[in-house]
Amino acid sequence: MICTMKAAILAVGSELLGTERLDTNSLALAALLERFGVDLIVKSVIGDDEQAIADELTARLQQADLVLLTGGLGPTEDDRTRAATARALGRGLQVDEAWVEHIRKLFASFGRVMPEVNRRQAEVIDGAEMLENRRGSAPGQKLEHEGRHIFLFPGVPREMKGMMVDHLEPFLAAQSKSESAVERRTLKVACLPESEVEQRIKEVYTTYGRDAIAVLASPGDIRVQGSAKGTAEQRAEILDPMMADLRRAIGPAVYGEGEQQLEEVVGELLQAASMRVVTAESCTGGLIAERLTRTPGSSAWLEGGFVTYSYGLKTLLLGVKTETLETWGAVSEQVVVDMARGALSRCRSELAIAVSGIAGPGGATDEKPVGTVHFALAGPGEHEVEHRQVIFPGDREQVRRMTSQMALDMIRRKLLDLGAELSAGSAEETSP
Ligand code: AMP
Ligand code: MG
Repeated sequence: MICTMKAAILAVGSELLGTERLDTNSLALAALLERFGVDLIVKSVIGDDEQAIADELTARLQQADLVLLTGGLGPTEDDRTRAATARALGRGLQVDEAWVEHIRKLFASFGRVMPEVNRRQAEVIDGAEMLENRRGSAPGQKLEHEGRHIFLFPGVPREMKGMMVDHLEPFLAAQSKSESAVERRTLKVACLPESEVEQRIKEVYTTYGRDAIAVLASPGDIRVQGSAKGTAEQRAEILDPMMADLRRAIGPAVYGEGEQQLEEVVGELLQAASMRVVTAESCTGGLIAERLTRTPGSSAWLEGGFVTYSYGLKTLLLGVKTETLETWGAVSEQVVVDMARGALSRCRSELAIAVSGIAGPGGATDEKPVGTVHFALAGPGEHEVEHRQVIFPGDREQVRRMTSQMALDMIRRKLLDLGAELSAGSAEETSP
């Protein structure tokens, strides 16, 4: 019988209850738990209040075999996690002089004298094992209580993640039965509505079951996740064909896998084609170029970008005629095509992408509602231009984000088409 461990996460810190900071530690912990097939049943966020933390821990210990706490292990008065845990378990808390020395040496290694308040970080809950923190002064603690396992980790995300790898991962590896491990694989899909993706993968759902596949949507970017449980071989037996079926069903809108980003994929394709791109942007204000520069080595394939917001700059930098702007308006096929052509003719690039649109909330007219965006992709030949017009839903940020996404996807598709043209005839044909 497979017995799945149940886990709870308690994120401690009053700042996490405010408007400035989100609990992100639990995301890293959840990913690790998932990898080991541990069932995460509750996440809570609690302020720096000893009684509240103790009450929460007591409640979670009723439900979970494993409770992970992060935060509140600092040296100051508001760091209450050690005391709260001791209170919840009815145990004592003693300063361990050996750990005081350890922390003192850590400070000395940075050329500093340990402030006396840091002695609090050497307070050990009775029966706990101290966990070394290689990235900071706050050690963690690990306890067993009535068959439950409890881990205390510091809140600083970098330290928490390091300790998670050092201490929690080996624990889970030892505990987890490999038959209960869950593996997820992800396909990334650009510029399709969620409903369209759902429609396309309907039959794959039928084959593998509704629960095995999840569609996670954000504007212009969708993740399709397949999951399977079992040993590595059992998982591969399910996931290999499932992911191939999903890819086939969704088609060329699939741009990548796992954590790959669209801009990264576009960069790789440009690199492979030995081509350079330049952007001419209006409503995105440079966002497309900004995304393209996120990938290291982008200078090999990104020429740069023109941010031309006004009529004046569209004319001055890209050579768009004043007459064209006045006749058709900046958000028009004529203008965006001339922007792309103008950028291409002025730069050492094979491709130029131009966008002009109404991001809103103002600026709409009867023929051009908010969200109207024109795209033009010029090149690789001098006369080659592809135009598209789209009306995006959503607010200003969403329209800009989707515009950058579609612009990048137009470049990607162009490069795929060019690659397919080059290898036509020679490449292996896949039968329908
Ligand atoms: P602490 O260990 O409670 O002193 O937290 C140290 C720092 O880590 C604080 O600046 C917090 O904002 C940050 N932090 C604490 N808990 C979390 C969490 N769950 N997710 C992200 N950051 C956190
Ligand atoms: Mg704190």
